[in-house]
Amino acid sequence: MSHKALYDIGEMPPPGYVPKSMHAYLIRQDRFGDPIKAFQVEQVEVPSIKPDEVLVYVMAAGINYNNVWAALGSPVDVIKSRQRDPDYVPFHIGGSDASGIVYAVGSEVKGLRVGDQVVIHCGMWSPDCPVVRSGADPMFSPTFRIWGYEANWGSFAQFAKVQAHQCLPKPPQLNWEAAAAYMLSGATAYRMLQGWPEHAVRPGDVVLVWGGAGGLGSMAIQITKAAGGIAVAVVSGDDKGEYCQKLGAKGYINRRKFAHWGMLPHWKDTGAYSRWLEGARAFGKAIWDVLGERKNPRLVFEHPGEDTIPTSIFVCDTGGMVVICAGTTGYTAGVDLRYLWMRQKRFQGSHFANDEQCAALNQLVIAGKVDPCLSRTFAFDELPLSHQLMHENRHPPGNMAALVGAPRPGLTDVP
Ligand code: NAP
Repeated sequence: MSHKALYDIGEMPPPGYVPKSMHAYLIRQDRFGDPIKAFQVEQVEVPSIKPDEVLVYVMAAGINYNNVWAALGSPVDVIKSRQRDPDYVPFHIGGSDASGIVYAVGSEVKGLRVGDQVVIHCGMWSPDCPVVRSGADPMFSPTFRIWGYEANWGSFAQFAKVQAHQCLPKPPQLNWEAAAAYMLSGATAYRMLQGWPEHAVRPGDVVLVWGGAGGLGSMAIQITKAAGGIAVAVVSGDDKGEYCQKLGAKGYINRRKFAHWGMLPHWKDTGAYSRWLEGARAFGKAIWDVLGERKNPRLVFEHPGEDTIPTSIFVCDTGGMVVICAGTTGYTAGVDLRYLWMRQKRFQGSHFANDEQCAALNQLVIAGKVDPCLSRTFAFDELPLSHQLMHENRHPPGNMAALVGAPRPGLTDVP
């Protein structure tokens, strides 16, 4: 087989041979905006790896909301934020989920070999950080970065550069695109639901899941079910609600039937406040209707943020937890503190997951308890479209992936 300096998309280099250049989707600052235009294919040099890193030939890449933000250049310009990095380059290669094959390993890497089939989680941190060295959760390290968003060289390219600990065994039953689809949203949901002691989901716990048919929500419903909890999904349409029920939700609420969303009115504005309260109470009753009993959610799985937080805090059970990992609708979260302190509720931030939580989620997938919920597989040249659909909330339920090195969908092994 010839050894070339650049291979076409879908044309696999010989095992372990790393070409000089690769095709990659790049975002540059002068084209920040709609994802359909912000992502463009260019040729770049394959990055070199450090002793604790590996180079993975990407078979498929998962699509996540973070690279919608990267394309928009908002709320963070990810390229500018890396300006002081020693290996700074003036472009962003996104992609925080991948399945692929190890092509090169750094000199200090143990437990991984060229040819291993892996899925990649997106948590990176410096092994020299005092927090990491102390044995604390590396998610609390100031060096923590999301690979393929905050850190460069993500999976929207033929080769991805990752730290060795990010690699986990690919579930053998899954094809490449399904294997690429679940880790970011699944591990994030796993930490939210299992990672905050006192409030890990217990059998019989009710969990309210916002955006139940979305990437995070579809994972949250299945993780709740696997732990013996009872998921109640919130969605914007009956088709999405039925999808959630198939995943194991007890039932769903259509949020379009309510109108009290948005920032909490000031408590002194009695007219507006009582209208809001009426809406929040009606929403709480809708949860009871799904359950068939007057039981409040012990956990509320939050990510819409500004539009929904006042209601989430209100409906959460006494002693329960609202756990949040995003503010898709906005960042100003209004809380009526009376419900928070008198009912002793917890409002907990959560962000991605550590190695153990990613491995636990991967085991649930390997065991068939969590399905990746792959909804649509895009060709490599449709990758900007996949993000544009997500930006416009016109994407299908579950998680999406794009083929990179895999020459066609449905393959579970090396072609
Ligand atoms: P997604 O697949 O688009 O799902 C989000 C869901 O939110 C949608 O399906 C939509 O469902 C619902 N939604 C949209 N507008 C809403 C509103 N105004 N009120 C209530 N629900 C609304 O996205 P995702 O992958 O689940 O990610 C969701 C957010 O979490 C994004 O902002 C993403 O960046 C963030 N995230 C953060 C982390 C982390 O580690 N911190 C990890 C993963 C994702 P309906 O229209 O059916 O209600």
